[in-house]
Amino acid sequence: MRCPFCGNADTQVKDSRPAEDHVAIRRRRFCPACGGRFTTYERVQLRDLIVVKKSGRREDFDRDKLARSIRIALQKRPIEPDRIEQMISGIVRRLESLGDTDVPSDRIGSIVMETLARIDTVAYVRFASVYKNFQEAGDFEEFVAELRPAASSDPV
Ligand SMILES: [Zn+2]
Repeated sequence: MRCPFCGNADTQVKDSRPAEDHVAIRRRRFCPACGGRFTTYERVQLRDLIVVKKSGRREDFDRDKLARSIRIALQKRPIEPDRIEQMISGIVRRLESLGDTDVPSDRIGSIVMETLARIDTVAYVRFASVYKNFQEAGDFEEFVAELRPAASSDPV
């Protein structure tokens, strides 16, 4: 596994343990070249999903891409990294169990928003504001008004 900080291909595994109820293996890695530390997760992929864009374009589902957008939304929010991984895996499992390998991109977006809304209101609004192409300010207000009461314990 290549070091994400310096690109060194020779990183060491310091610790491996089951995560997310034993559906994943969490590995702590160390880079001897730059001293960087990072974590990787190894997990089973049940089936290969295809994302169908609004334009009709199809591309392979990319878990990392999904994870990246969720991590960006959750940046500096008080959510444990393990919890975030668990949430991402939950979303992927939901996608895998939709019954069809073709998944419309807006279906993915709405599942992510649904999940974020339950976990962190700020992250939800961040994700939604990037995800939805708001034509006018009113759309956004309306959207925020749809926030579930259960998610509003965390002030925006
Ligand atoms: Zn490194």
